[in-house]
Amino acid sequence: MSLDTKNNSSKIVVSKFGGTSMGDAECMLRSAMVSLERNAFAVVVSATSGTTNQLIEIGKHAEGGDWAFCESKIAEIEQRHLKIETDLQGQLTEAHRNFAQEELAILFDELRSLSKGIFLLKDCSLKAMDSMMSLGERMSSVLFIGAMQVQLDKTKASKKVRWLDARKVLVTDDQFGKARPVKSASKQKAAGILREMQPGKDIIVTQGFIGGTEKGFTTTLGRGGSDYSAALFAQAFDADELEIWTDVAGIATTDPRLCKEAVSIPEISFKEASELATFGAKVLHPATLAPAMENDIPVFVGSSFNSE
Ligand code: ADP
Ligand code: ASP
Ligand code: MG
Repeated sequence: MSLDTKNNSSKIVVSKFGGTSMGDAECMLRSAMVSLERNAFAVVVSATSGTTNQLIEIGKHAEGGDWAFCESKIAEIEQRHLKIETDLQGQLTEAHRNFAQEELAILFDELRSLSKGIFLLKDCSLKAMDSMMSLGERMSSVLFIGAMQVQLDKTKASKKVRWLDARKVLVTDDQFGKARPVKSASKQKAAGILREMQPGKDIIVTQGFIGGTEKGFTTTLGRGGSDYSAALFAQAFDADELEIWTDVAGIATTDPRLCKEAVSIPEISFKEASELATFGAKVLHPATLAPAMENDIPVFVGSSFNSE
């Protein structure tokens, strides 16, 4: 995999930002600037760091009948997202402020209703859990739109940032918890998006990890699945490049957080990277590379904290 550094506007670049790159307003603003600098057409975001784990805990405790626990976790999730919204607020136009406030309120409502439903039924099926987990990416993407707008205003570029519900494009089967993509249907939906939105003029912000069945049910691709989503979007959009932005500067010989001797690998074949991922290198979801490989899309892995 190699990176062609001259990003011109005719190229289709899909960029994915993981949970740590979405951790707070500062991280979101930094990630937003990276995606603008790299001329991304579609930006695929993960939930803010820790949120997916908390959503799972809420689902489990609601099923177990512990409503007090659910209340406190729901409040934590709300506060985390409201803090980011407040931190971005001062820099946002009224229209974008309203968008973030209204959309977050709808999502918070959904979180409460869904939790209450699971609590009342004492049943958290995989299907219900997928709806629950989808809220993390849906909340973070609403906030990321704001961060993108703040940065776009600074660059004075006349681009439009558009929010896209990934569930309407990334079609999957109904194997809840680990849904498999229906690539032909996703490709068709992506073609529709490409007729409405133009690389170079529009920037799409969408969610990783989640998809939707043909019947409209919410699904997820399995934990850590945002990398896979980004690759599927890249394939559906016939992208020229896929960028995975995380908290380490590329793929290393081993986990640099665990081993100081880890050495960054400047270029690695798809096969070797797949092996690393399969044997547990968390930096890439094991399935990520398949769609990129099928379409010969180069993959770049970099740190959103140090994009140079
Ligand atoms: P994100 O939230 O951006 O998806 P992840 O936590 O899923 O990030 O993946 C990034 C982490 O992967 C790094 O912080 C690092 O600790 C870990 N990692 C494991 N193996 C490797 C490797 N071989 N090279 C780089 N990072 C690795
Ligand atoms: N938010 C999801 C998870 O924590 C997907 C991802 O971050 O890749 O598993
Ligand atoms: Mg990850």
